[in-house]
Amino acid sequence: MNKNIIVIGANQTGLVFAAFARNAGFDVTVYEAKKQCDVAYDWTDDMVEETFEEVGMPLPPKEIYTRKRNWTFVPPEKGVNVLMDLPDDQLDMAIYRRPFNAWLLSRAECAGVKVFYETPVKRAIVENDVVLGVELENGEVVPAGLVVDCCGVNSAVRKSLPESLKITRNVDKNDTFIVRRTFFNRPENTARPKYTNRAYLKHINERGISWCTLSHDEKQADVLIGRVGEMSDKTYENALADIRCDNEIVGDKIITGGQLLQIPVRHPLSRFVANGYALLGDSACMTIPMLGSGMASGMKAGKMLSDVISSPVTENPFSVENLYRYQARFMKEIGGKHAAVDMMKNWLLNSKKGDVDFLLGKGVVSRKVLIEASAGHMIVMSPAEMAQAAVKGVAKLPLLLNLAVLLQKMKKECKTASNMPKYYDEAAFSKWEEKYEKPFRK
Ligand SMILES: Cc1cc2nc3c(=O)[nH]c(=O)nc-3n(C[C@H](O)[C@H](O)[C@H](O)COP(=O)(O)OP(=O)(O)OC[C@H]3O[C@@H](n4cnc5c(N)ncnc54)[C@H](O)[C@@H]3O)c2cc1C
Repeated sequence: MNKNIIVIGANQTGLVFAAFARNAGFDVTVYEAKKQCDVAYDWTDDMVEETFEEVGMPLPPKEIYTRKRNWTFVPPEKGVNVLMDLPDDQLDMAIYRRPFNAWLLSRAECAGVKVFYETPVKRAIVENDVVLGVELENGEVVPAGLVVDCCGVNSAVRKSLPESLKITRNVDKNDTFIVRRTFFNRPENTARPKYTNRAYLKHINERGISWCTLSHDEKQADVLIGRVGEMSDKTYENALADIRCDNEIVGDKIITGGQLLQIPVRHPLSRFVANGYALLGDSACMTIPMLGSGMASGMKAGKMLSDVISSPVTENPFSVENLYRYQARFMKEIGGKHAAVDMMKNWLLNSKKGDVDFLLGKGVVSRKVLIEASAGHMIVMSPAEMAQAAVKGVAKLPLLLNLAVLLQKMKKECKTASNMPKYYDEAAFSKWEEKYEKPFRK
């Protein structure tokens, strides 16, 4: 049996998995389409510090991360600013992604992983429903026992799979967030804003979010504008104009960023393993659907996959029977909650004008609930909290009932999604997929 592993994609998900798998004794080769310096974004992104302990990694060097500031949530009609007000030790890490990527690369290379840049993979080589390796863009065919696809949401390799593997090849654009993040100069003599990190929910009543934050060195304004499914230039310009009205720190000069990007914002794919193949990170839609954060879950999933192939229950660690355990574990620990949060995201996107302002303004949706949902956690309210919410929201009882029904549906979906059949059995797996996807059918 071929014990070589090919990892496609050298952002954090691919590099973290590659290092774990190499340390577990496998030969690991990573192919990355871009140059090393272009792989990671030129900015900081947020992650919960405990992620490193959970996956069994040390914290990155201190100089490559700082602390996120508290978010302030602004509903569509801007009737209220809800400041999270978390103590410093509960705030996320803000990681400088380029040096973070370089740190992960050095760890992987020290472990003995071979990494090839500017080497795009064209497709998976599949015979009799077994993935046997990959074909590179340059025509070279490389055999492998396991191909781990960490190519992101638009993975060309996933798209190349035959239908018979039953893996979703194309992620619907309405399940993605089209986003532009731009750093503008902060004009001189502008006052330090009271709310340094404002997140606009359903900004100007559109299907998406925007944010305006003061950069860590306080010299720039970090503006993100994202919409679900599509974002025209006009939509972007309107949203930017609105943000400028509220935030005098947004100057006219672009310092960095500004490219149009895409993030998956849906529940995880219903199937992300096959014989000799596994999806990992954004390519399996492992992001938190409410925010599109995917660094932590991709890293955790990488550790799970490495654990599963290192302790196979069948002779072949790369068989679908064995890899299935990785998907089942991911869904139990993370994916089930993400599925529930996806339902909440859809509910919010489809809510009527004024509803989000009412829920936040009256405190029906508490700070605690907002914090939980944005961290991708399941929302659990005690009977006392429910009663309090009912009193606060009594003026809009139908809306409250609707919300209560949603919470019940989320609980049910979380249970379904978290409990895949214990062992791989094709018929039972397909049946579970059907049940899991049902609430999301359009
Ligand atoms: C504006 C913005 C803000 C974000 N903020 C946060 C945040 O605060 N916190 C957070 O956790 N997440 C955040 N995210 C999401 C986060 O960036 C992703 O979840 C994460 O990068 C996914 O990592 P990945 O390694 O799975 O995939 P990717 O980062 O998409 O990496 C895929 C890699 O595969 C390579 N590749 C693609 N196709 C091929 C091919 N055919 N052959 C070889 N290589 C290929 C690509 O070049 C790329 O390097 C943000 C995303 C954006 C766009």
